[in-house]
Amino acid sequence: MTKPTEETRRGVYLRDGYRCVMCGALELTFQHRRAVGQGGSKNIPTAVDGLSLCMICNAACEAELQTKALANGWKVRRWVTCPERVPVYFPHEFAWYRLEGLRRIRISAAVAMEMGCSVYGDEWMQWRLRAIAGVA
Ligand SMILES: [Zn+2]
Repeated sequence: MTKPTEETRRGVYLRDGYRCVMCGALELTFQHRRAVGQGGSKNIPTAVDGLSLCMICNAACEAELQTKALANGWKVRRWVTCPERVPVYFPHEFAWYRLEGLRRIRISAAVAMEMGCSVYGDEWMQWRLRAIAGVA
């Protein structure tokens, strides 16, 4: 996995309020929203590819919480070419955002649903329903 530049990493932490997007913890790692296959990607991740997560939440996104991570925009399918089109949910703020470079812009849940569905179609709704029901 190619590492972000130090500038991108710092920018992402600042954008996310120096807190783990999932749980609000202060010890941060750079989470790659877009999974890359075996051998990794040669592309250096941009700010929109990254998210501030603590080590525990980062690991959970790659393991038992994969559907929840997709439903909340913490992870993005590999084939999504524009990760800015997938909104991100910040549970400790009870708020949805869309990411634009090093900025995050607050959006309503309705707009988030529209964005998610325009990228993933019905699959997004299935993930949302499972996330709301608390099924990982
Ligand atoms: Zn966390």
